[in-house]
Order: sequence, then structure tokens, then C-alpha cells
Amino acid sequence: MPRPREDELQIAGLRLQGIAEGGVETNLRVPELKLMFDIGMCPPRALKYGRVLASHGHADHLAGLHYYVSQRGMMKLPPPIIHVPAEIVEPLERIMAAWSEIEGFPLKCELRGASPGERVRISNELTAIPLRTHHRVPSLAWVIERTTRRLDPRYEGLPPSEIKRLREAGEAISLESTVPLLCVTGDTKIELFLEHELVRRCKVLVHECTSWDDQRGVASTREWGHTHVDEWIEHGERFEGEALVLVHRSLRHTRRDALRVVRDRFPAGLREKVFVFGT
Ligand SMILES: [Zn+2]
Ligand SMILES: [Zn+2]
Repeated sequence: MPRPREDELQIAGLRLQGIAEGGVETNLRVPELKLMFDIGMCPPRALKYGRVLASHGHADHLAGLHYYVSQRGMMKLPPPIIHVPAEIVEPLERIMAAWSEIEGFPLKCELRGASPGERVRISNELTAIPLRTHHRVPSLAWVIERTTRRLDPRYEGLPPSEIKRLREAGEAISLESTVPLLCVTGDTKIELFLEHELVRRCKVLVHECTSWDDQRGVASTREWGHTHVDEWIEHGERFEGEALVLVHRSLRHTRRDALRVVRDRFPAGLREKVFVFGT
């Protein structure tokens, strides 16, 4: 019997759901945020998500794009918003135009190019920040910040009508706090983690770890633009968040192999924060 490919992990108030097979398929969904990272081959549960934050154009991350857009069109769902590295917008538009011609109806989606340094507003609370990763093609990691607002205690106890009046008068009556909630890296060498304090501070960091033993060593893994487990063992203690979720494991390694490496080789303080995602 084939093993199930969908995995689920509940961590820091978020559910992570999806498929994480290095070089085969990557699709990660977070229902609490209504966000999906990469499309993979578009597994059925991806269809209801109206927004995608894509890391890069390799087939294991984006091959399902046409199917995703086409199926949503047939289901009369709103055209999805798809954030991709700015460099690949134009070729993707050409591909979608060609598929529209083949299918005989317009494929409707909004392809939005993203570049490092921008801030993408997702909702009142959520902002997505694209960061440049170190891979073989233009690619982005996505940091999700959550900003919450609460009434400044100085105004507590006022009647609601007075609070409404102050707000309408433009008075700053709320306190804001912003937390880097989640980062999903896509494919990258470990440099992303080493370069960005923001990545190291995210509550949940979903980072790739493609190689888990010496069949493909550190140098060769890096040559392909990926991260080796030895690099996590060396640098992982710099992570300041709650959960380091390792994904994109090559099919050369079973989940059981990976869990054994975490147990036997990761430093004690880090081990408790590390999760292996992907069946
Ligand atoms: Zn990949
Ligand atoms: Zn890739």
C-alpha cells in the first residue's frame, strides 16, 4: 500500500498541513492564516486556498499552477492571487496564455511579482515579507508577521461611544505589537538562516533540510542550492523561535532515519525544538 503523503503538525497555535518531499513535491498549507506556500502538484486540499506564496519555479514547487488555476475557474471560485519571484512573472504569463489557448477558455489568476525588501499586505493583521534565498534560480523565502492591536490601558473604562469618537478623531488609542510568526523558506542553502536575524526570530521556522547523511555530503548538497543536516547541527542553536520544522527531505531518507539523526546528533537544547515534517 502506498504511504500517505499528506502530513500535519500542530505547533504554536498553527496547523501545518501538506506534502514535503524534496525534489518531488512541496505544498504547505496553514489554515489558521488562510495561506498556502507553493502549489506542488496541486493536491486536492490546495484548491480552496485563494492565495499562494510561491518560493520559486522548480517543478516540485510550482508544476500544479495551471491545474490549480483551471480547476478553480471550473469551480467558479475567485481568481487566485499568486505571489512569485518577480523574475518569473513574464514567463509564467506566457505559459498561462498558452494553456488558455489550449483549454479554449481564459485562465484567470493574478500573478504578482515579489522582490526582496518589499512588504506585502495580506490582511489587517498579516504582512508577508519576501527574502532572497540562496538557490540555483531566483527564489524567495516568505516571513509572515502578525500585528495585533489592543486598546491602550489609559483608555480602558471609557464608554464605547467615547472610544469610537476618539478613534474617529484620529487619536492613537491602540497599542500595536508585531510578531514574526512564521517563515517558510522554500529551497535554499543555510546562508538565509545565517544572514537574517528575522528568520532566526520567527516563532515557527519551516526550513528545508534535503540531505540527512553522507550519501550526498555537505559540499555536494550546497552545490545544488540545498541544506545538509550537518549544517543544522553546527548552526541550529542560533534559532530563537519555538519550532524549527525541517522539510524537503530527499526520498533517500525515511522519516525514521531523520528522527534518529535529530535524537542522536542534535545538541540537547535544540533537539526539543526540532520537528521533522513530511511522511
Ligand atoms: Zn525543491
Ligand atoms: Zn528548487
